Amino acid sequence: MKTIAASLALSTLALAGAEAQEPRRDRVAPAAVYEVAPGLGHFTDDVLFGEVWKRTELAPRDRSLVTVSALVATGKTGQIPGHVRRALDNGVKPGEIGELITQLAFYTGWPNAVSAVTEVKKVFDERGIGALAASGADPVTLDPAAEAARTALVNTTVAPTAPALADLTNRVLFGDLWRRPELSPRDRSLVTMAALIAIGQPEQLPFHANRAMDSGLSRTEAAEVATHLGFYVGWPRAMSAVPVLERVFARREASTRPESPADTGAELKVVRAGEAPSAGAAERFAGQVRITTPYRVDAPARVGGGTVAFAAGARTAWHTHPLGQTLYIVSGRGWVQKEGSPVVEVGPGDVVWIPPNVRHWHGATVDTPMTHFAVAEALNGSAVTWMELVPDDVYRAGAKQTKAKAR
Ligand code: MN
Repeated sequence: MKTIAASLALSTLALAGAEAQEPRRDRVAPAAVYEVAPGLGHFTDDVLFGEVWKRTELAPRDRSLVTVSALVATGKTGQIPGHVRRALDNGVKPGEIGELITQLAFYTGWPNAVSAVTEVKKVFDERGIGALAASGADPVTLDPAAEAARTALVNTTVAPTAPALADLTNRVLFGDLWRRPELSPRDRSLVTMAALIAIGQPEQLPFHANRAMDSGLSRTEAAEVATHLGFYVGWPRAMSAVPVLERVFARREASTRPESPADTGAELKVVRAGEAPSAGAAERFAGQVRITTPYRVDAPARVGGGTVAFAAGARTAWHTHPLGQTLYIVSGRGWVQKEGSPVVEVGPGDVVWIPPNVRHWHGATVDTPMTHFAVAEALNGSAVTWMELVPDDVYRAGAKQTKAKAR
C-alpha cells in the first residue's frame, strides 16, 4: 500500500511538473529533473526515450532486458521498479525477470541479486503477480562440442588453483544455471553480455557475445546493446566494449568465409598487341583469315580464344567445340550456320552461343568482312575439332537465303 501511494505521489508530481512547463504526454523525466537539471530532462526525453529507445536495431523487449540487467548488475535499485514495469509492458514475462536476477547473481554477485528481488517484489505486488513456480520445461541442451572445449579449459586453467571453483563452474554454472529453461539461451546470453559491459569487464565478453550470436543475436543487435548501455552505465564502459565486439565480429566473419586456395605467387600476364603469332591455317579456313591475340590461360583454368578477322567471302571449316563457344561480333557482317539449320546473319555487338558438339561454321558474308572475338573452354586440352571445308555452294546458299529473307 505504501508503495502504491508513493508511486502515485511520484506520478502526480511528474504530471504536475509537465503541466506547469509544457503539455507533453510523452515526458518520462520527473519534474524535479527539469527543475534541477533541465539539460538532463531534455536528454532523457528527447534523446534517451525520444530517440534511443525507439531505434529499431534492438526490440523494446531486448532493451528492457538489457536495462534491467544493467541496473541489477550495478546495484541501482532506485531505478529497478520503473524499468521492471516497463519490461513487463514490453513483453518480458515475470518469470523471465526472476530468472534474469538468478543469472546475474552468478555474474554480478548475490547482494545485487537479492537487493533487486526486493524492488521487483514491489512491482509484482502492485500488479497482482503471485509466487512463481518452476516452468517444468526440459533443461536446455548445450552444444556438446562447445561444452567439452569449455570444460577442458576450466579443468586446465582453473582446477589446478581453485578446484572447487572449477567444479562449481562445470557442475552448477554450466551444468544447471545455463540449462534452466526459464530464460531462452539467447536471452540468457544477452543479459550476461549486458551485465559484463555494465560492470566494465569486457575481457569476459567475447565468450558470451559469441554464445549470444550462436543463439541468434545479430551483429546489429549486439552493437546496439553497447549503444543502449552508454546511457545506463556511462559512455566509458560502452566505448570499452566496442573494440571487443569488433574483434568478435571480425573472427566470426573470418570463420564463416569460404576457404580460398593460397596465392601461388603467379604474375599477371599481358600479351601485347602484335606480339602473338597471327595466322590463318589453310586447312581450317577458306579465304583470307587473320587471327590476332590468340590466347590460352594456364591450367587448371581452361578458357581460350582470339580475335578472328575474315575478309569478304572467308569462313571457317566445319567444326565442333567440346564445351561450346561464344562469339562476340566486333565489326562488319557475318554468317553463322549450324548444320541442317538456316544461316544466321550477325553484326557488331551481337553475341552468339554455340552449344557443345554442334557442327557449325562462321565467317564473313559474301561482300562484307567480319571480325569476331571467340572464346571457348578446352576439354582434355582441346577446344575445337576441325572437319572439312565448307564448299562454295553451301556457303553461297547463305547469300540466297538472307536475300530471300530480305525480300
Ligand atoms: Mn566455332
